Amino acid sequence: MANRRFQMDPRIKRELMGQKRLLVLGLICTSLSSALYGSSMGLIRRLLKDLEKIGQTHAIADFDAMKISTLMIIGVFVLRYFFTRGQTYYLAEAVARLTNGLRQRLLTKLLKLPVTYFNEKRAGSIQSVLTNDVNVFQSAVQILRDSIEAPLKAIVALILIIVIQWQMALITFLMIPIMGIIVQRNAKKMRIAQKQVQIDLAEVGAVTQEVLQGVRVVKAFGAEDQVNKDYGRLLHTSLKSQLRAALLVARLRPLVELLGAVGLCGAILIGGWLALSGNMSVSDMAALAFALDAINQGFRGISNLSSTYSSVQGASDRIYSEILDVPLPPEHSGRQVLERVQGLIEFRDVSFVYPDGTWALRNVSFSIQPGTSMALVGPSGAGKSTIADLLQRFYEPTSGSIFLDGNDIKHLDVNWLRSQIGVVPQHTFLFAGGIDENLRLGTPDASDEQLTKALQMAHAEDFSREFRDRNVPVLGERGVRLSGGQMQRIAIARALVRDPSILLLDEATSALDAESEKAVTAALQEVMETRTTMFIAHRLTTAARADSILFLKRGEVIEQGSHIELMAKGGQYSLLFKAFSDGLLEDNLG
Ligand code: ATP
Repeated sequence: MANRRFQMDPRIKRELMGQKRLLVLGLICTSLSSALYGSSMGLIRRLLKDLEKIGQTHAIADFDAMKISTLMIIGVFVLRYFFTRGQTYYLAEAVARLTNGLRQRLLTKLLKLPVTYFNEKRAGSIQSVLTNDVNVFQSAVQILRDSIEAPLKAIVALILIIVIQWQMALITFLMIPIMGIIVQRNAKKMRIAQKQVQIDLAEVGAVTQEVLQGVRVVKAFGAEDQVNKDYGRLLHTSLKSQLRAALLVARLRPLVELLGAVGLCGAILIGGWLALSGNMSVSDMAALAFALDAINQGFRGISNLSSTYSSVQGASDRIYSEILDVPLPPEHSGRQVLERVQGLIEFRDVSFVYPDGTWALRNVSFSIQPGTSMALVGPSGAGKSTIADLLQRFYEPTSGSIFLDGNDIKHLDVNWLRSQIGVVPQHTFLFAGGIDENLRLGTPDASDEQLTKALQMAHAEDFSREFRDRNVPVLGERGVRLSGGQMQRIAIARALVRDPSILLLDEATSALDAESEKAVTAALQEVMETRTTMFIAHRLTTAARADSILFLKRGEVIEQGSHIELMAKGGQYSLLFKAFSDGLLEDNLG
């Protein structure tokens, strides 16, 4: 039973096995360094005996013997220098490689997880797993080191005690089970407390990130004090859980030390009694004190081991439950790749329900002819973004099918499908590198000429030339200061680098000034001419420019047709448009 409790979690073991070579090297060095430490105690005993002898004989020969003992001690410590150096270096390398490997695997897994996962999780909490939890996890290597170093030191010291006075070793044997029980009792509580510490730290990380991202909103609303107070409350909760864990460590450590000291004093008393009866020399007594202290150190190491293990276990639980063990959805990607894409998009009777049960689309059917554009129009929550997400296969339709050139997209290779779609999101997101790096996202091999061509098409070549020549980063202190319209045009260029046959645009022009809007609209108009375009139109004036319009409400198609057709029909779209023309309605549907 006890044995089972102390067994290392197989997941932690597996991670450590990934660095087997370095760990074996590091642990061999640890064992030799600890063994040498133990043998140095024997040599010190010998040195003290030599000293005792000199005091009695005053003979030069005894002084020579003492010199040899001294040299041997120096020799042992020189050897130990190399092994301790090896131990420190190899284990540090194992830690660095283990954490790097783990972070890489975590990101690989995160990138495989479906969009729904990110809908449900807070970015800061995920980030905390990659930073805080991985940092704590690296102490697993320290556990391995301590689990060799601490007992080995204790064992060597115990052998020395047996050699000097076997009766005294009994006291030490008596202490072992007492210490074991105390350490074991604490371990479970520590694990729970440590897990809570990591959860609270993740919450703090998540909120920190959100506050930093939303700093403009916080300032605009004058909410600094409010945010500060909420943050303070959160920090207080985190402090409480840290203190709970600290209390457990604080109780265990001195208790182990106290028991060790009691054992040490008991042993010294017995030693004094033995010396009284002439059965023990002063040198033996001194060597015994060293040995008992080494045993004490060993116990302290073992008690640390249990608290460190608890934190590693807590971190490992989160690393696995939050990311690595999250099941991937069944592999939906087909294998089919189309030779040439015409760009005919068809939605046939598509319905979609989000995992939380929200009906987003009901029996939606429409088609977009190759090379034409369709505007998705409708009030907020109508299902426009959901249609765009389904086309990119971020989700699978609950019922119905989507076709590209007559092929059900569920049979198409999902990466290939996405590479055929150029996406310009509503909120432009650029990475921190230079403009060229941003343009090469997803197309790392694109030539400089391809990038220039894309920038020309997006009407972004003029202003970006200088930044590109100097490779100025897009964000950061020394970064390019781009206006909203310029960012949008870079985003359009990014979508065009791969020369997609389909464009998916989320209209962002509403956020731009008149000048920028003109430039962005002109850029879009040109690039849409040769491609099938689906765009989410938040404004009726933009929608009117599309070849056809899909008017949605609460997930259902209300009307579809060209602007002229819909106006002639006199339905809801025409009523809205008339209200807008008469100045009764703003040109923004949300
Ligand atoms: P907007 O113009 O405001 O962006 P939209 O027309 O694009 O709105 P969708 O975002 O597609 O509308 O949302 C359609 C419906 O699905 C809404 O009722 C919305 O609340 C719901 N919805 C959207 N995303 C999720 C989600 N991740 N989980 C649950 N329900 C969602």
